[in-house]
Amino acid sequence: MIEVKNNRIYFHNMNKRDIIPVDFQCVSAYLCPHCKKVLAAYYAGKIVDLEPFMEEPALKYHYTLGTSNGGQYLLLDDHNHKKGCPGWEVVSLSARSITYSIDVWARRYEVGPENLQKLCEMIAASKVPGFDIVQDICGADDLIVLYNEHAFTNLNNPDFRESCARRENLAAYIDWVVSGDHSKPFEPPIKPKTSEPVDVPEGDLPSLADIKAREQSSKEVFGDVIYVYTRAQAIEDGVLVDVTQTAKEAGIVYPTAVTQALWDGYIVPPESLKGIQDMDGRLWDVLTMFSFNARAMKKANIDVAESQKDTKQTLYFKTIFQMPSKVGYPKMETVDLKAVCGPGDNAEPVLTIMLADEN
Ligand SMILES: [Zn+2]
Repeated sequence: MIEVKNNRIYFHNMNKRDIIPVDFQCVSAYLCPHCKKVLAAYYAGKIVDLEPFMEEPALKYHYTLGTSNGGQYLLLDDHNHKKGCPGWEVVSLSARSITYSIDVWARRYEVGPENLQKLCEMIAASKVPGFDIVQDICGADDLIVLYNEHAFTNLNNPDFRESCARRENLAAYIDWVVSGDHSKPFEPPIKPKTSEPVDVPEGDLPSLADIKAREQSSKEVFGDVIYVYTRAQAIEDGVLVDVTQTAKEAGIVYPTAVTQALWDGYIVPPESLKGIQDMDGRLWDVLTMFSFNARAMKKANIDVAESQKDTKQTLYFKTIFQMPSKVGYPKMETVDLKAVCGPGDNAEPVLTIMLADEN
């Protein structure tokens, strides 16, 4: 299990005494007040292989691990947390403080800005069921907010119909909540007539047969060209970016390149984060996450069979990037990546890292 106490993070297994516990200095950590699990932590140390420390082999909940700005972080996967701790979800791990969190929440549930200020004040005073404040127990960072839709929309135990009406009319429901007068039942507003559905003229859409024919002809035209297009040429053209030198430092022995989409989309820091984040750090995060996953796979004994050595091998992994967000506060975006290891121009093994949906 993972525990945070006195600004240290502990990884240990209560059931297996032969597994040596490890601990590191913890910079920031949030614990769920309901299930007591670590929702997120940032610590000084190394990425820990969590498997030996999980009491349940089925891994009822799951963490994403990564490196960022010289430290390590772990994040509990929201979706799994919902299962383990019914109804409670983290509004946002990156938009901290009540104001930023409620801003994110309101956008997600398409609630207008009216009354949000008052709602924030009430949440700060712990007067709104369904919204919980979680402080950073290391005291380094701002608080995060947990949301439970069921708890929020069932204030004063309404009947089922009213609770549904509240969920469907959240903006009006917030009016009612912040008014403070809950003696009258919540009345949903009368809905305006929905507008006519827009007709799409059939003639403008290509038929399935057309699309198939087009795909077929482009295959014929480009098929051979792609086949003879060498990796060296792709690097020269900027379609691939050679990162072999940095990869070596991260312990990767093969020549390594990343695709332009990954390079431009994530490794080059977005304009608003320049000066805060650098390219080397973001590339380093990708390479160390690959390295960590490749080692974990090797440990699990998924070794390349001798007969498959000349075919392509794909490893999927995730990396978290700090990205700008509309609320003006950087958000952490988990990006699915894959690494393809295959024969290079001279049949040597080479590694290409790209977005998971790239070919
Ligand atoms: Zn929980």
